[in-house]
Amino acid sequence: MRVTAGFSRLLVLDGVWVRAVRFERRRVVVEVALRRRRLRCPECGFSTPHRHNVREVQSDWRHLDLGAWRLEIRARLRRLVCPEHGVRTEGVPFARPGSDFTRDFEQLVAWLATKMDKSAIERLLRINWRTVGRIIQRVSADELDPRRLEDLFDISIDEVSWRAQHRYLTLVGDHRRRQIVWGCEGSGKDAADRFFAELDPPAASELPEPAEPGEEQAFTAQPKPTVGERASKLEAISMDMGPGYAKSAREHAPQAVICIDTYHVIALANKALDEVRRAYWNELRQIGETDAAKEFKQARWSLLKNPEDLTDRQAQTLAALQADGGSVARAYTLKEALRAILAPGLSPADVAALLTRFCSRASRSRLQPFVKLSRTIRKHRQGILAGIRLKVNNARHEALNNKARLVTRRAYGFHTAQAALALIMLSCGPITLMLPHEEIHLHV
Ligand SMILES: [Zn+2]
Repeated sequence: MRVTAGFSRLLVLDGVWVRAVRFERRRVVVEVALRRRRLRCPECGFSTPHRHNVREVQSDWRHLDLGAWRLEIRARLRRLVCPEHGVRTEGVPFARPGSDFTRDFEQLVAWLATKMDKSAIERLLRINWRTVGRIIQRVSADELDPRRLEDLFDISIDEVSWRAQHRYLTLVGDHRRRQIVWGCEGSGKDAADRFFAELDPPAASELPEPAEPGEEQAFTAQPKPTVGERASKLEAISMDMGPGYAKSAREHAPQAVICIDTYHVIALANKALDEVRRAYWNELRQIGETDAAKEFKQARWSLLKNPEDLTDRQAQTLAALQADGGSVARAYTLKEALRAILAPGLSPADVAALLTRFCSRASRSRLQPFVKLSRTIRKHRQGILAGIRLKVNNARHEALNNKARLVTRRAYGFHTAQAALALIMLSCGPITLMLPHEEIHLHV
């Protein structure tokens, strides 16, 4: 077998034949030519038999490594005039427009990005993290299920912090399919408004026509706010206790029941406990009990972890604190009581009764953070109970949310929110990534 024929079989690249193979220092360059005669616009697929001029553009793509060899594909491409996109270099079937990598290579990068950390990928594939970010954006845009915003009934809207403090990504999850289906940079009402705008994009016929200069508007009636078709199908929207998402939801999907995700409530209880703990610690330091203060600082995890996850040592620390019976012990008991009330399994009626009892206990606790917590819970009682009644905030939803948070932390190194969102979609969204060997059928 000739070397060109051998490489043609090895590479399994769509729509090309191998012209020549050159071994250079540490890399193999495979020169290919397109089989098709017609030229195709890389953006829209417009095809034409006519080339723009005789000039050819040399293009290179990195392909999957061949053992320790770096493999590059090279082709001389023609140029065409697309009626929509102007003069363009023709597209190739084996690579995405604008990419220096073949689709196979990009698929591998995207798959690894969902499984592996930054330095491992950089070392294995010999590309930097920014390049990974650009690649996964292309793959995610290409592979995201375009029907992901259809048939949404129960959704969650939540924010995750990204990179530096006070930068957020807003993520919309589908409770039924258990996937993240949408995301954008930012948080609060603006972000939710953007989701609803994309959920029901205005049809071209509904867009206001630009007024002719000098022409009088025939009528100036305000368009009355209408609920979009897809938004009108939403039955439940779960969220945190902030005002932003709720306001947007009431505006764009007034029929949907607003539910509070219970893990946000539990997170608030943990925060209240931490405030009590810190106040006690400061007290110890102020009265000069530095050893006790130091020891107590280490008790933080004993207090905040779920009791079933404690190490033996942490469990001992906790037992000692509880025996002491001070403010920290009382705060801990309150936090655990709330967690038990909101754990799955209780009927909505039981939760309602227990929540009432919890709030009166917390408000009489003389622990300021818990008095405040009881007020917050009373204010959002309806939403908390709705979530339990409609079963939208179950353990699986929390697991998806935790996964999204973990992925976001891995995405801190990316320079754009788009890359971070792409990684979240690849890991938690409606995408099934296929690896190169899963997609091809080797004919031997
Ligand atoms: Zn085009």
